[in-house]
Amino acid sequence: MPTTVHARSTAGPGEPFEATTIERRDLGPKDVLIDIAYAGICHSDIHTGRGEWGETLFPLTPGHEIAGTVAEVGSEVTKHAVGDRVGVGCMVDSCRECSECTAGREQNCQKGNVGTYNAIGKDGRPTEGGYSEKIVVDEGFVLRIPEGVDLDVAAPLLCAGITLYSPLSFWKAGPGKQVAIVGMGGLGHMGVKIAHAMGAEVTVLSQSLKKQEDGLRLGADHYVATGDEGALESLRGTFDLIITTISADVDIKPYIAALKPEGVLCTVGLPSKPFQVPAGALIMGRKSLAGSNIGSIAETQEMLDFCAEHHIGAEVEVISGDQIDEAWERVVNSDVRYRFVIDTKTLAPSA
Ligand code: NAP
Ligand code: ZN
Ligand code: ZN
Repeated sequence: MPTTVHARSTAGPGEPFEATTIERRDLGPKDVLIDIAYAGICHSDIHTGRGEWGETLFPLTPGHEIAGTVAEVGSEVTKHAVGDRVGVGCMVDSCRECSECTAGREQNCQKGNVGTYNAIGKDGRPTEGGYSEKIVVDEGFVLRIPEGVDLDVAAPLLCAGITLYSPLSFWKAGPGKQVAIVGMGGLGHMGVKIAHAMGAEVTVLSQSLKKQEDGLRLGADHYVATGDEGALESLRGTFDLIITTISADVDIKPYIAALKPEGVLCTVGLPSKPFQVPAGALIMGRKSLAGSNIGSIAETQEMLDFCAEHHIGAEVEVISGDQIDEAWERVVNSDVRYRFVIDTKTLAPSA
């Protein structure tokens, strides 16, 4: 019998979250049933729920920053045992056959990985995410959360953490490197912590100085308000690597100008409109404009272990199921310090 669990879902763009129940499939031999403790709210949940990235499958139960404990395992599961502290990120499956999957880069699966929500699973049913009490996931897409990282602050590592760790590691953020993190939100604050732990000199480029004190406390060496007249222009030629987490449509050119020759501007933020980039902005100084999509399963485990070793978790505000609409609004208004995390014990309808 499938397991029926409490969840929160939205019926369409702009529709409020409602308490509901969803069904989790019977455990297959390789499946793990997870009691979800916390689910982070990522801006991608909001882009998807508001239809900003095209068609969405409604009703939608979002959530791809999942932390909990293993409740039950299928007969052939070897990687996880009942009681283990585990996490699930943005993917729950992939084709496992293409050149990317066989190289261990499931996030770039050439047939498209299966998203934790708003995708069709191999059973032909829409996938449903972490704003729910339990989830069933193939063991190959379940991560181990190391001791020393509490589950609430671990949840956001499963998307925000890996999305910053992967490009920082790929472009070798480390001692002697000038790294800028644009946007001090859910992804951005993880970028500050991780780039600092990797040994880079870190600058936050935020719209204002409102979060400066936090940025410096979390590991930034410098904090610049891009809204201040001339502030970005004064940084021309400064950075080896800039990672932008901006979720909104902005002019990217001043950020390219802030790169050193041969510098890389990597976007992980996914605004709905295309960037406008004159070829000359890249040609002069052989600069690169790049993007990066989460990270592989192996790299996500590496990131979790790195975070445990460096005592890194997310800065979270724990909320109840009834506060999701308000939290989404606050994320859109850049009013989050720095990740909302839903306590899944509160998902049953309130009396
Ligand atoms: P978030 O918490 O809302 O952070 C985004 C930050 O962008 C805000 O805190 C704000 O920083 C800045 N920002 C917002 N509007 C801006 C504007 N008009 N001009 C300049 N800066 C602005 O969102 P998030 O959860 O970190 O996600 C950020 C983006 O990454 C979203 O587009 C999300 O979909 C995407 N994402 C991508 C991946 C991937 O694999 N590539 C994974 C997860 C999420 P300040 O207040 O400091 O200025
Ligand atoms: Zn996400
Ligand atoms: Zn594949």
